[in-house]
Amino acid sequence: MESDLFARLTFDNCFTRELPADPEAANFRRQVRAACYSRVQPTVVREPRLVAWSREMAEELGLTIDDSTAPAIAEVFSGNRLLTGMDPFAMCYGGHQFGNWAGQLGDGRAINLGEVVSPAGRHWTLQLKGAGPTPYSRTADGLAVLRSSLREFLCSEAMFHLGVPTTRALTLVTTGEQVVRDMFYDGNPQREPGAIVCRVAPSFVRFGNFQILSARRETDLLKRLVDFTIRRDFGHLGEPGEHTYARWFAEVCRLTAEMIVHWMRVGFVHGVMNTDNMSILGLTIDYGPYGWLEDYDPTWTPNTTDAEGRRYRFGQQPHVAMWNLAQLANALAPLFSDTKPLQDGLDGYAESFNSGWQQMMASRMGLRSWQDPDDKELADELMLILQMVETDMTIFFRRLATVNVESSDHRVRGEAESEYLQRVGISGVETFRDSYYVPEQITPEYKIRLGQWLLSYGRRISTDGTSAEQRRKQMNSVNPRYVLRNYLAQLAIDQATSGKMSLIHRLLDVLRRPYEEQPDADEFSAKRPEWARTRAGCSMLSCSS
Ligand code: AMP
Ligand code: MG
Repeated sequence: MESDLFARLTFDNCFTRELPADPEAANFRRQVRAACYSRVQPTVVREPRLVAWSREMAEELGLTIDDSTAPAIAEVFSGNRLLTGMDPFAMCYGGHQFGNWAGQLGDGRAINLGEVVSPAGRHWTLQLKGAGPTPYSRTADGLAVLRSSLREFLCSEAMFHLGVPTTRALTLVTTGEQVVRDMFYDGNPQREPGAIVCRVAPSFVRFGNFQILSARRETDLLKRLVDFTIRRDFGHLGEPGEHTYARWFAEVCRLTAEMIVHWMRVGFVHGVMNTDNMSILGLTIDYGPYGWLEDYDPTWTPNTTDAEGRRYRFGQQPHVAMWNLAQLANALAPLFSDTKPLQDGLDGYAESFNSGWQQMMASRMGLRSWQDPDDKELADELMLILQMVETDMTIFFRRLATVNVESSDHRVRGEAESEYLQRVGISGVETFRDSYYVPEQITPEYKIRLGQWLLSYGRRISTDGTSAEQRRKQMNSVNPRYVLRNYLAQLAIDQATSGKMSLIHRLLDVLRRPYEEQPDADEFSAKRPEWARTRAGCSMLSCSS
């Protein structure tokens, strides 16, 4: 029975087969040169217990997970039991952290179990996060706590269902062991339950994997890793060579731009956009102190470690991605005889981001297509209005889909313009009522601005000629009703810490259909309650995990 359970996991370990390994077999912290990875075994844990799993990911891999198989699943995805064909390793990478080159980082608490080919023929790397120290653990312990593992597990799957490119999560396992963490770096270390997430992605290679080789002037190895990546994950570009390198870099730029457009659409703030946290496939990777925008505030970041400079604030993400791509371009430069293709790739990022952002905003507003310069004005003014009163972005856009647009001129109705504006403004405020965090901020001036905007919007919608029903459908397919609100994740953590896992399962289920109205799940679409405004873990997180 049990051997059948894993029978469909067919391993095909390309990364370890084709790229050079660190010759040192012992597991101690060190600088690893002239290698892409180190072989390392997960640490055995005391009492692995399966807490949650992704049904969709299990199906994709051909795994049957239920109560009867849970113990065996927990053994394997805690790293306690290795299956035939697994070849565990930690990758060597470097990175720029908060703008500074940090040298070698690497998989300090991630251990790749191996690569499988799914029944549908897709390649997936299975990776345990929190399975013990590796040669790259530096001064840390290689472990992860339940709080952060739960956040990673839920958010990976929520992002997937939202249509955002992301690494996936197969399982969440508690280890039965305690891990010491100083959550706020304030000298108050606590024992917390340990946990391990099995992450899944076609590749976990990051910008930093290339950067470390370039920084060490290991150009031959850099070329090998690029060639490997192109053959393995970008096969449609053709055989590696300088011309292909240029097309590949352009594609990485485009994929990154697409990912960022999605983040801006759903209100996701990564929190730590260091170059070691940038996937070469343009996937959202490394869910740490991430957060979801509540009120629309482009300066917001959930990461208390970044509170001073706010380098990774919501509105800055498109620029940071560009900066990170420029660092990748620098790293790749030794493979190019001329840097122009790299510059072209970066220019392509800006173009892809801009056109992607425009299309995204147009569809969020229910327009068929973006028309310059009017739609830019419309979108910019909306973003300003959203900041006049603390307004929940997610709720606002769902409500916007229900607005009955008024396109007629006030004179037709025999109204004075000011009266007319006031009337539209007041009814607008009613429509958006649920999205306001501080209703006292609503001033007469706000009502007039909102009224004016709704009138311009109404005129624009009428020229587009879409029916109210079409518009509502279109908008509701890009403006989610349910996101993993910061305080919901924290409530699930509070429950899980006291041994109750029901909220994790409920959230996982609701977040499977984020664009659909789910009448029995209204509570999960409500705006953040006031108690969560300043509560640690809700809107403020540290890197400690
Ligand atoms: P992050 O900020 O989570 O992207 O991590 C930056 C680097 O620190 C990566 O190389 C991680 O593998 C490493 N790291 C983070 N937490 C731990 C930990 N508990 N043990 C070992 N390495 C860690
Ligand atoms: Mg990381």
